[in-house]
Amino acid sequence: MKARIAEVFDSVQGEGLYLGERQVFVRFFGCNLSCSFCDTKLNRFLEYEPDELFREIKLYPDDFHSVSFTGGEPLLQHEFLRDIIKLNKKHGLKNYLETNGTLYQQLEDVIDDIDIVAMDVKLPSSSGMGQLWGMHYRFLKIASQKETFIKAIISEETVSEDLKAALALIREVNRSCILVLQPNSLQPQERLKTKLDDFSALCLRERVTACVIPQMHKVMGVK
Ligand code: SF4
Repeated sequence: MKARIAEVFDSVQGEGLYLGERQVFVRFFGCNLSCSFCDTKLNRFLEYEPDELFREIKLYPDDFHSVSFTGGEPLLQHEFLRDIIKLNKKHGLKNYLETNGTLYQQLEDVIDDIDIVAMDVKLPSSSGMGQLWGMHYRFLKIASQKETFIKAIISEETVSEDLKAALALIREVNRSCILVLQPNSLQPQERLKTKLDDFSALCLRERVTACVIPQMHKVMGVK
């Protein structure tokens, strides 16, 4: 079975709780969402068999933390993903899944061989994607079998009701899940500061562990 892969490269993780870890990145082509802040416009891909991709991953110096499956949305090609993460596990590599947190049935198919889930929660007022809470709820339930943290983009447009809904989701499904607030890197950072301060205070009041971590790969100018 072949998958459409936009690129394979090594770099440092630019966001979330594993910021700064060296990883091999596998960027899948295609996404089921179209967020207003999306900066991943992919128009080219190569087709890979799982063993071809594994051989390419192994070309990199083997001192990396994990293989990051990113996109696009990797779970759109979950059958291929299942095969490549099995190969990685068999050879002692860690699998890190970056996902928009919606394709929960596909997640079920791969969760056994995933080590870390970096899951987006799409706040409707930030993403322009409408309500995805039902999908996020089911997704987080399955993801919580493994180490999972959540990322949410905070924009000038983000309303506190949406953040409250994300906090309720975390409280109900997985209280130990850490929420990473990511200022929208396409907007002036100084204008987001007050909102981020208010939102951090709200997380504290709601007893959900949260931190603000910018998308550093954009700041550093790395992939
Ligand atoms: S889920 Fe990610 S890749 Fe897909 S449209 Fe949204 S930001 Fe872009």
